[in-house]
Amino acid sequence: MDEPVCAYLHDLPALQSHIKAMVDILPKKTCLFYAIKANPDPKILKTLLPYVDGFEVASLGELQRVRYVSEEIPVLFGGPGKKEYELEQALKKGVSYIHVESLLELRKLIGVAAQLDIDTNILLRVNLHERTLPVTNVTMAGKPSPFGMDEWIIEEALTILQDVENTHVHFRGFHFHSLSNNKHPDRHMEMILLYMEKVEEWKRTFNVEVSVINVGGGLGVSYDDKPSFDWERFITLFKKSGVLDRLGEAELFFEPGRYIVADFVYYAAEMIDLKSSMDQHFAILRGGTHHHRLPASWGQDHPFSIVSTDDWEWTYDFKRPGIHDDFISIVGELCSPKDRLHSRAKVETLRVGDIVVFEKSGAYSWTISHHDFLGHPHPVFLYKDEWKTKKEEG
Ligand SMILES: *Cc1c(COP(=O)(O)O)cnc(C)c1O
Repeated sequence: MDEPVCAYLHDLPALQSHIKAMVDILPKKTCLFYAIKANPDPKILKTLLPYVDGFEVASLGELQRVRYVSEEIPVLFGGPGKKEYELEQALKKGVSYIHVESLLELRKLIGVAAQLDIDTNILLRVNLHERTLPVTNVTMAGKPSPFGMDEWIIEEALTILQDVENTHVHFRGFHFHSLSNNKHPDRHMEMILLYMEKVEEWKRTFNVEVSVINVGGGLGVSYDDKPSFDWERFITLFKKSGVLDRLGEAELFFEPGRYIVADFVYYAAEMIDLKSSMDQHFAILRGGTHHHRLPASWGQDHPFSIVSTDDWEWTYDFKRPGIHDDFISIVGELCSPKDRLHSRAKVETLRVGDIVVFEKSGAYSWTISHHDFLGHPHPVFLYKDEWKTKKEEG
């Protein structure tokens, strides 16, 4: 018997065109890094490698994944709760910048760098107190936050850095990552202007040189019928904003994750059963949120299309269950009511044996999922060429 379809399909050629188009219009003095936590698949990293200026990682595991595809590519090392062994490895493996998230982390880093006698560059991650940051469903700053340091701690951090004992840890600038999934280029630009004002103020107040301003990620992808972030429009706004002149000799880093990869991976799962309970229909898939947790994580419906198949008739001699012109909930194979990918989808025809293909499954999908909950087999991972032939075979 054939295994029911359950697969992640990667369109690497389309990803390549997308990253190329993004980088083609990137202004001078700006750099594009990929935050690999969105999707650390080695083939994705290899596809992006020739185009991006580097990768952003937040653990040694992620650093290892980057070093597996390249020994030289610049790396930004961020994330809260860095352990001393992580700081040590970051220094030994030669990351370009460490994003320091707290005063304790800074003190530990100074100690570790002195012990190893290795120099390093750092950016201080700041949690701004402005209420003017755009609001999205994941906001990490402008409110109490475990990420970065409050604005009024910057002075103390700079004092620690200026201590005569510290000869290895070099302050280079500031890092901000205040939100995720912002779909509005205009508000993104306003946020960056706010960052610029703040940095200019701190440069004056604390009399420090700033050579890098990292404005984080957070470029949004739409999972409904609204448009996703418009990178081209954003770059046009950015060029008109005067930021490039204000940067002087400094560089500005972008480090998006989601927007780079979301559109180029599909999650395909075969419909195993159709149930009607009270007044509702349920499509039960070979797969679910243990492979693709994003819709459950955000409590949203995930966009999909249906690939109809015709081999049912060859296999069974009883009637094939299906619905027509009706609403249906699309759920997974887990014994959990949270295992839901779409709550009320309108479908023309959906029959058992059809394949539901979830689009925009490239970011925070597989990588954030609880793969082994209930112990079902993992999906297969296919990359464009392999996937075409499998699909044609049925
Ligand atoms: C997650 C993360 C990113 C990427 O965020 P996206 O919303 O995927 O663009 C960038 N920087 C930091 C520090 C992050 O934690």
